[in-house]
Parts: sequence; structure tokens; C-alpha cells
Amino acid sequence: MKARAQPPAIPRLSPEQVDALNAEAFELRMSDTPRALQLAQQAHDLALAIDHPRGLAYALLRWSLCEFILGEPMAELQARLDRAHSLLEALGEVPGHLDALNLQALIRTRQGAYEQALLLHQRTLELARLHHVYQAEARALNNMALVHHALGQLPDALELLQHSLEVAARAGSITNQAYTLGQLGQVLQGIGEMELAVEHLQRSLRCARQSPDLARQATSALNLGALLSRLGQHAEARPHLEEALTLSRRTGNVSDLGQALLGLGQSCLAQGEADAALAAFEEARPLAQRMGDIPSLCSIELGLADLWRARNELAPAQGALERALGHASDGRISALAGRAHLALSELAELRGDPALALQHYKAHHACEQRLLGERSQQRLRGLFVRHQAQALSQELQAARQADQEKQALLTQLSAQADLLRQLSHEDALTGLANRRWLDLLLEQEFERAARFRHPLSLAMLDLDHFKDVNDRFGHAVGDAVLRQVGRLLRDHCRRADVVARYGGEEFTLLLVETTLPLASQLCDKLRQQIETFDWHKLHPDLQRITVSIGLAGNAEAHTPASLCALADAQLYSAKSAGRNCVRPSPAAAD
Ligand code: GH3
Ligand code: MG
Ligand code: MG
Repeated sequence: MKARAQPPAIPRLSPEQVDALNAEAFELRMSDTPRALQLAQQAHDLALAIDHPRGLAYALLRWSLCEFILGEPMAELQARLDRAHSLLEALGEVPGHLDALNLQALIRTRQGAYEQALLLHQRTLELARLHHVYQAEARALNNMALVHHALGQLPDALELLQHSLEVAARAGSITNQAYTLGQLGQVLQGIGEMELAVEHLQRSLRCARQSPDLARQATSALNLGALLSRLGQHAEARPHLEEALTLSRRTGNVSDLGQALLGLGQSCLAQGEADAALAAFEEARPLAQRMGDIPSLCSIELGLADLWRARNELAPAQGALERALGHASDGRISALAGRAHLALSELAELRGDPALALQHYKAHHACEQRLLGERSQQRLRGLFVRHQAQALSQELQAARQADQEKQALLTQLSAQADLLRQLSHEDALTGLANRRWLDLLLEQEFERAARFRHPLSLAMLDLDHFKDVNDRFGHAVGDAVLRQVGRLLRDHCRRADVVARYGGEEFTLLLVETTLPLASQLCDKLRQQIETFDWHKLHPDLQRITVSIGLAGNAEAHTPASLCALADAQLYSAKSAGRNCVRPSPAAAD
């Protein structure tokens, strides 16, 4: 008898199968996003068929994350994520709930809804701390830093990142460390610490190479390549950009792929490889279009314009610049529009049309002016966000204090966080804030005080006849005196005040919420503390150190710079009046 052919096996549907698909989608989400998306969709259909709500929730979550990475349209993605979010919350699935909150916040950030993004990240942070999920805690801190970075609040961003680095080190997560180091690099770039920025991005890349996360490696290589190319180090930048290109082709991360192509195009152009630059720009263009990434679209056209100009082909250069201008106006990007106008002005001049050249030149100038306005707008917006987030952050503060165990662990700071703190914030001799840090904080506090109409005072303090101390006792004793003065100032100011070494033997005190008469009293107390300190301890023949202090308040100053200038003038007047005294600006005497 002939055996009957076996019917094809009907796959048995089980919750475990859904979970396995979801787990694989999670594994591959960064390294092969399109495949992860397919797996999540399969998990979704299967979970629906067998009525497995937890599996369904995770499938929807992974699906929406993949779409987010791939730059898919937002409406459907958002609806899927909302469903996942409420399911996960209802099911009490902490890891999934954390991921959903995080993705909601990332979407808000991409849309520029920074207030909402920060609130969502803060909810994530609370939840992560409550359940001791360190990785999610580090990620939330990182992403909050990203928002502050976007708002131009770099001191806040740096602080969050340092904190995140500590948490990531504690969690033992090399991928998180790579990510945080990368972001630190970006923020350091923002405050002009280029060497430190390169160093951090190099470290980020080293960490990323140790992790299995290809997408992380791509982003780290991209950031380093982009910075080196910005610094004009095109030969060094190229291999990193090429690595980023290869890796992001494999992972399918459209945003990184587009950025890598743009960077490569710019580097090739700078190195005179016009054909390669052209190919890179042309491949980058549709990707930027798909992501709706207007700044990149604009930069691509500007790059193409340079390329045609170099080949002396003025008509295509003109076309590219006009497209650049169109994109820049759509996105209201003054900086890029300004560059396009400037280049168009040069082209018009070349074509012998001085009237048009002048017109574009004027437009270029107007963009520059607007840019200044935009920057202060951005800072004001940052203050607003901070104000809204204040209530929540007070709650967070309380939770943080309650967590004694964490405090103990926090003392094991990572060496990287220490190094960064020292190099970017601190004056090496005294351990006080350095000049750069003071400038950043002054700007921030000045704006906050202006917005909420709070008093702010600034004191400039200079050691009297300090040159004599060096001459009589040597530089080492001089240094010890500076350190001691720094300690006395720090010990007798409030925690919220900023004590900085301005340079040499000059110190600055930024006294928040302090009126000029109050500041004057405080400064006189400090002056006495220094005068009456037992200086013999430092050298048997060292009798007395005195200081002169000039003081000004924000009531009389319109900018941080004028506040400094006023205090400086008062310091000069204190010196002329015989030293060892405090001179507040005249308003305080009323
Ligand atoms: P005045 O009362 O007018 O301020 O007199 P002065 O001697 O303090 O001022 P001057 O500006 O003439 O000299 C400042 C001195 O501070 C000169 C410089 O050698 C010393 N100085 C600056 N930075 C340091 C430092 O880091 N360590 C030491 N030991 N000395 C320093
Ligand atoms: Mg001086
Ligand atoms: Mg002096």
C-alpha cells in the first residue's frame, strides 16, 4: 500500500512563539531594523490570533520603535505606540512601560515639543529609580540631557550626562557608556572644548566597538567623523565616516546613513574629490527628504553649490543655492539661509550684477542678525521649560535623598566623570569653578533672574599686593594662599552661590537671589574672614592677606557682560580707596 503523503504541518500557535519573535525583534532593533520590524509585525498578528495581550503589547512597542528608527510617518506609529503604552501600563510590565515612555519622549523631542519630552523623561526616571532599573535610568538621564542640549542649556546637559555616566558604569553597560560619552562629546563641542570633545568621542567609539550594538558603533563613528571634519581634519575624518556609512547601511538606520553621506560628501569636497562628493550628496538627498530633515537638505544643496562653483559651472551652482534657500526658508534656519545668500551674492558679482549681489548681501546680513535673536529666544524657551519642570524635579530630589544605598554607590564615581568635571568645570589650582563655567552659569542665572524679576549680585574680588607675596615667599606659598582664599570663599558662601576663580589672583562670586545691600554685607564678612585668617599657618612670616571687592547688582545691568564691567569698575574704585574694602555700585548706598 502506498503511504499517503503527510499534510503540511500546521504550525501550533503558542504565546512562547510570540515572545520569541518579540525577543528577536528586540535583539535586532538596532542592528537590522527592517528585519526587526517584520518580526514585530509577525508577533503582532500571532498575538492577536491567540489573544495574548502581553505579547501584543510588546509587538506594538517594537513595531513602533522600528518605525521611529526608520523614519516612518508619525500618525500610525503614534497610534500603535499609544495602544502599546496603555496595555503595558495596565499589565504592570515595568520594562515595557519604561521603553514606551522613553519612545513617547523621543517622539516629542523630534517634534520639538521639549516641555512634554522632559516631563515624560522625568516620569521614566522616577519609574526606573523606583524599580532599580539602572539602564533605563541612565537612558532617561541621557535623553533629558539631549533636550537641554537642544535648548542650549549646556551646563544642565553636562550635569545630567555626568550623572548618567555614573549610573551606566554602575549598571555595567558598555553600550550606555558609549552613548553617554558620545553625547558628552557633543555638549563639549557646544561649549567650545574641542580637544576634550574629540577625546570623549574617541572613547565613545572604543566603548561602542566593545559592545555588540552595530548601530551604536555607527553613531559613535559618525559623531567623531563629523567633528573631525568640522575641525578641518578631513583625512582623519574620512575613515570614521566611511565606517559609519558601512555600518548604517547594514543596520538600516536612515538618519545615520544620511548624516554619514552628508559628512563624507563634505570631506570629499574639501579633499578635492568632486565625483565622490557628488555621488555622496546625491545619495543623501532622498534620505534627508524621507526623514523631513530640512537642515541636511539645505547643507546638501550648499555642498553641491560649492562643488559646481569649484568646477566653474555657475548655472547649476545657482540652482543648488536657490534650492538651499528654499529649504532654509521652509525650516526657518537663519544660519544656513545666511550662507546661501552670501554665496548667491558672490555668484551675482561674478556674473556682473552688482545690484543683485548687494541685495543678497543685505539678506545675508539680516540672517546673521536674526540668528542672534533666535539664540536668545531659544534660551528664554529653555527657562520656560525649566519653570514647568520644577515641581516634578522637587519630587525627584526628595526621592533621591531617600535613597541612601544609591548615595553610597555614587561615591564610586567613574574616572571619566571625574576627569570631565575637573577639565570642563574646575579651576585646577583651587577646585573652584573656572572662568568658562562661570560665564555659562552667569548667562543662565542672569536670564533666570531677569525673567522672574529676582535680584542677582556679582562680586569681583582681587588680592591686595599679591605680587609682593610671590616676591617675598615664592610661588608655592602664593599658590597656597590662592587655594586658602578659595576655601574661605567656598566655606562662607551658600551652596547655590557660584564661587569662581576668574583668573590669576581674582575671584568672582555670583550671588543668586541676593540684593545689592545684602551682598554688600556678605562681602564685607568675607573680607574680614580673609583678613583675620591665621596666615602664619602657611608661612611663619606671612602676616596678613587682604582683598578688595567690587560689587554690582542686576538692577543696573542689562547684560551679563555689563554686570561684570560694573563690578570691575567698583573693584578699581576699591583699590583706589586704599584696598581691603568693599565697594558696591552706587545703587546699594541708597
Ligand atoms: P593690587 O593690589 O593692585 O591688585 O596688586 P597686585 O600685586 O595684587 O596686582 P598685580 O596685578 O600687580 O599682580 C598680580 C600678581 O598675581 C602677579 C602674579 O604673579 C600673581 N599671580 C597670578 N596668578 C598666579 C598664580 O596662579 N599663582 C601665584 N602664586 N601667583 C599668581
Ligand atoms: Mg589683579
Ligand atoms: Mg591684586
